Amino acid sequence: MPTDIGPPDFNQFLPPVIKENYGKWKYHEILEPGVLKHVGESGDELYTVRAGSGRLVSTDYIRDVCEIADKYCDGYLRFTSRHNIEFLVSNKDNVAPLKKELQEKGWPVGGTGRSITSIVHTQGWIHCHTPATDASGIVKCVMDELFDYFGDMSLPNHLRIALACCLNMCGAVHCSDIAILGIHRLPPKVDNERVGKVCEVPSTVAACPTGAIRGNMKDKTVTVNEERCMYCGNCYTMCPAMPLADPEGDGISLWVGGKVSHARSEPMFSKLVVPYLPNTPPRWPETVGAIKKIVEVYAANARKYERVGEWCERIGWEKFFELTEFPFLPQHIDDFSDGRVSNYSFRTAATFKF
Ligand code: SF4
Ligand code: SF4
Repeated sequence: MPTDIGPPDFNQFLPPVIKENYGKWKYHEILEPGVLKHVGESGDELYTVRAGSGRLVSTDYIRDVCEIADKYCDGYLRFTSRHNIEFLVSNKDNVAPLKKELQEKGWPVGGTGRSITSIVHTQGWIHCHTPATDASGIVKCVMDELFDYFGDMSLPNHLRIALACCLNMCGAVHCSDIAILGIHRLPPKVDNERVGKVCEVPSTVAACPTGAIRGNMKDKTVTVNEERCMYCGNCYTMCPAMPLADPEGDGISLWVGGKVSHARSEPMFSKLVVPYLPNTPPRWPETVGAIKKIVEVYAANARKYERVGEWCERIGWEKFFELTEFPFLPQHIDDFSDGRVSNYSFRTAATFKF
């Protein structure tokens, strides 16, 4: 029975060729960068043309996309989890003209296989309340620099980049090959004049995962034990009188080596490689330069089909730091010591048994 809760059943939006071959696909291949071919047991073929897209787009843009989909693939398209648009074409003859029209419009075709596909990212300064850095701005600068890798499948394997603008992390930074993560480095600045007027003291105290906040119910004020604060921003979510954004304290960290794929090795979490880079809008040269360095060193040194994390594990992280010339700092020790907690407590594979 239909309900008014949740999204509609996706089955009703599937192209006929997918409905007819559901669960009965024989194989797929990448014909060229940005073009996939799926073949069913029935012999039916489906062609997918992938175009890069921004994460924040206008309604006019969506209308343009739909118009193209109506013209070449009966209106059937989908957005991937990394914001690419995939036009689902059942008539092979439409692939070349569709690709040509996309290219004429300046919409890049690519992002498949051994490429850098569009960067998944979070809200940043444009929308969220706890970001330590911007999202769309940095992603634009990074992708401007790495754009050639989108369309040529010249890397050893897939290279997925993600950005989350705080460690609450609504982006995929823990499981991407290269991750850009915004970090706060200072505790919240408490405005006790406002706390009593705009916040509930008990829920603010309860919001702190480290028990760093002490509440005074009589005065309706709070104090923060700065030694215990880990700058997560949870308290600010509950209490707008405790902002922790700071131009000097906020910045960017870089993480490397995560992946979701089960191919060859288990899924991997990314590890800290650069603990802090400053926020330097509008072009963030330090962050862009460091990511470009990682990509170029990986492209020059990894074996074919090795993901970034697999390459790092094979050569050893010491060698990674040597090749990239990033300094190894005290902030790295927890992540790279044998006693790291996540090594033992996080299971990543679907193949494990209790
Ligand atoms: Fe907000 Fe953090 Fe998500 Fe960025 S990562 S959008 S700051 S919750
Ligand atoms: Fe607690 Fe996080 Fe607020 Fe620090 S920022 S006081 S750790 S809730």
